[in-house]
Amino acid sequence: MPETSPAVEKPLSAPQKALRKMGLLRSVDLSLHLPYRYEDETRIVKLRDVRDGDVAQIEGEVRRCDVAYRPRRQLQVVLDDGSDTCTLRFFNFYPNMKKMLEAGQRVRVRGEVRGGFMGRTMMHPSVSVAGAPLSEALTPVYPSAASLPQAYLRKAVQGGLERALREGAFSETLPADMQPRGIWPLAQALRFLHHPPPDTPLATLEDRSHPAWCRLKAEELLAQQLSQMRAKRERDALRAPVLPVAGGGVLLGLRAALPFELTGAQVRVGQEIAADLASQVPMHRLLQGDVGSGKTVVAALAAAQAMDAGWQCALMAPTEILAEQHFRKLVQWIEPVLPPGCRVAWLTGSQKKKERQLMNEAIADGSALLVVGTHAVIQQDVQFNRLGLAIIDEQHRFGVEQRLTLRRKTQQAGQADGVQEPHMLMMSATPIPRTLAMAHYADLDVSTLDELPPGRTPVVTRLIADSRRAELVQRISAQIEQGRQVYWVCPLIEESEALDLTNATETHRQLSEALNADPKKPVLVGLLHSRMPVAEKKAVMDLFTRGDMAVLVSTTVIEVGVDVPNASLMVIEHAERFGLSQLHQLRGRVGRGAAASACVLMYATGEVGRLSETARERLRAMVDTADGFEIARRDLEIRGPGEFLGARQSGAAMLRFADLQTDVQWLEWARRVAPQMLDRHPQLAETHLHRWLGSRHDYLKA
Ligand code: ADP
Ligand code: MG
Repeated sequence: MPETSPAVEKPLSAPQKALRKMGLLRSVDLSLHLPYRYEDETRIVKLRDVRDGDVAQIEGEVRRCDVAYRPRRQLQVVLDDGSDTCTLRFFNFYPNMKKMLEAGQRVRVRGEVRGGFMGRTMMHPSVSVAGAPLSEALTPVYPSAASLPQAYLRKAVQGGLERALREGAFSETLPADMQPRGIWPLAQALRFLHHPPPDTPLATLEDRSHPAWCRLKAEELLAQQLSQMRAKRERDALRAPVLPVAGGGVLLGLRAALPFELTGAQVRVGQEIAADLASQVPMHRLLQGDVGSGKTVVAALAAAQAMDAGWQCALMAPTEILAEQHFRKLVQWIEPVLPPGCRVAWLTGSQKKKERQLMNEAIADGSALLVVGTHAVIQQDVQFNRLGLAIIDEQHRFGVEQRLTLRRKTQQAGQADGVQEPHMLMMSATPIPRTLAMAHYADLDVSTLDELPPGRTPVVTRLIADSRRAELVQRISAQIEQGRQVYWVCPLIEESEALDLTNATETHRQLSEALNADPKKPVLVGLLHSRMPVAEKKAVMDLFTRGDMAVLVSTTVIEVGVDVPNASLMVIEHAERFGLSQLHQLRGRVGRGAAASACVLMYATGEVGRLSETARERLRAMVDTADGFEIARRDLEIRGPGEFLGARQSGAAMLRFADLQTDVQWLEWARRVAPQMLDRHPQLAETHLHRWLGSRHDYLKA
C-alpha cells in the first residue's frame, strides 16, 4: 500500500474504504491501531485442563461425525484428544467440512469450551489441519468494522508497522534527561503490543498497565500537551488591544446600576479578567462557575472595560432564549450608561432581514459597542469595526471551529493599531473536573466562581417513583396558590424527537386538566419544545418570565441558562435518562429567589417496578450534594469525558490510549515535560507532534 495516492486512482475495495474511514491511512496510524484483546494460538491444551468458558485450542481425532436434526439441523462431531472428548456443533456447514471432519481425521479446533451435563461442547469452533506450526505470539484482535475482515486488518497493520519501523517513524523523540525511569522505547512497545510473546500475562495488557501500554499513554498525553502549549505560545505572540482598567463611564455606570453587591468570588475573578484585558497578550480564559453563581455580571463588567477603551464586545450564546435573556439584562444595565450614539445590538437567525441589516450596519460602523446574539454573530455578513473582546456563554456547546471564526472577526476588520486578536472569555456552568481541565484545556487560563450570591435557599431534592404523580399535582397546586411558578421537564428521547413531542404534549394536556379543576381559578400551563418556531418559543418564555404563566412544561433542556427567580419547584420526569451534570444544571433554575425551593426527580418504575441499583445510586448523588464539582466528578466516573468536552470537540483532542481516571501520573509528567521540550528541543517536539497528530488534521479537514 503506497503512502501517497497513485497517479491513476483505482476504485477502492470495501476493506480499503473501511480503512480510510477509520483514519488508517499512514503506516504510523496503522501501527497505532492497537488490539483490544488477544487470542492464544501459541499452544495446544488438553481437554482435561480446560475450564468451563475457556477459549482453547485442542487437537484430536474425530470419533464420529453426524448430521442431526434436533433441535435444528446441525453437524455434530465428537472429538477425542486422548484426555477427554468434546462435541463440536455447527449449524451452518458446507459439504467439504463434513469431509474434513470425517471419523478418523486428526484436526485442530479453537473455540469456547462449555462443560455441560451432557459433556463438553464447542459451538462453531474454527477448524484447521492438525500438526500445523503454532503461532509464536499471541494473536491480536483489532477494533474493526463490518466490512473489514480481521485477517485483512491484521495484515494491513502488520505491513504498516514493519514499514513504519523500517522508515524510523518511531525513533526516540524523548530527550534522554526527560525519559521517566524504566520507560520502554516506543518501537519496542509497539512491536510488543501487536505481538506479545506467549507468556505475557493477558490481564496487564487488558487493563493497560503493562509498561508497553505506559509508553503509549505517556506519548499520547505528551503530544496533547505539546499541541496545546504550542497553540498557546503562538497565540501569546499575537497582539490584542490593551484595554486599561481606567474605570471609564460605562464601567462606573454599570457598577452603580447593579442592584446587588458583588460576591467575593465575582470581585476576585473580575480582577483576574481585568488584568488580562489590560495586557496586549490575548486573553484566553475559561470562566467556570456553578449554575447561578453570577457569571453574567462578570461578563458585563469585562465588556464595560472593553467599551470604555473604545472597543466592541461580542457575546455569543448557544440558543435564542439564552441570548435574549442576556440581551435584555445587558440592555437594561448598559444601554443607559453608553456614550451618546452608541447602542447594544442584537443578532439572531430568526431576525427579520431589515432589522438584521440595521444591526449589521451599526456593527460595521462601530456604533454597536456591544453585540449579543446566537451563532448569527459569526456569520460572514457580520463585520465588526473593532472587536476587542469576544465572550462565549456555555462554551462547550460550541465547536472549535466556531470559536476560531469568532476570533477571526478581529483580523477581518483589518484593524489599525496592529491588533490581530480579540480577548476571549469563555463561560461554562459545567464545572470541569481537574484532570479533564489539565488534559484538554491546557492552553486556557481558568477562573472559578466558587461562591453563590447570598440569599439563596438551598434546593431540596427528592426522588420519587412516577406512580406518585397525583401527589405531585397537589404539590404544584400549593406552589401556585402561593404565587410561585413551576418547571416540568420532560425526558429527552434521543432516538426520536417525535416521541419527545408526544410525551410532552400529553403531559401538558394532563397537567392543564388537573390544575384547572376549579373554573374560578384558571391556571396557565405552557408548553415549550425543540420543534416549536422560535417566535412561539419566545412568546411562551415571555409569559413565564413575566410571571403570567404558572407552569412551564418543556423538553428543551437546551435552554438551561434561563433565569426566573420566582420559580420554586422543578419536576424532572424520567430523571434516570439524564446525565448528572445536566440534572444539576436544570436544578439550578430553581432556588434563585428567596423562596424555599425543591427539585423532584421522578423515575420510571418500569416493568419490574423499581429502578436499577446503579441508576438509583446515580440519582442519589443529586440528593446528597448540591456541589457542581462533586457532581461533575461522579458524572465523569460514570459517563466519561464526552459530556464535558462537547460533541463537537475536534477528534484530535480526544484521548485514545490514556485514561484520565487512572493515568494522572502520566498526565502530570506530560505537563511538566512539554514546556521544557518546546524550549530546549523544538525539533523533537515537532517530530513528536507530527507522529501523533499528522494525518488526523488532514483527516479532519477532509
Ligand atoms: P450563571 O452563572 O448561572 O450564568 P447568572 O449570571 O444568570 O448565573 O446569575 C444568576 C442570578 O443571580 C441572576 O438573577 C443574577 O442577577 C443574580 N446575581 C448575580 N450576582 C449576584 C450577586 N452578587 N448578588 C445577588 N444576586 C446576584
Ligand atoms: Mg448563565
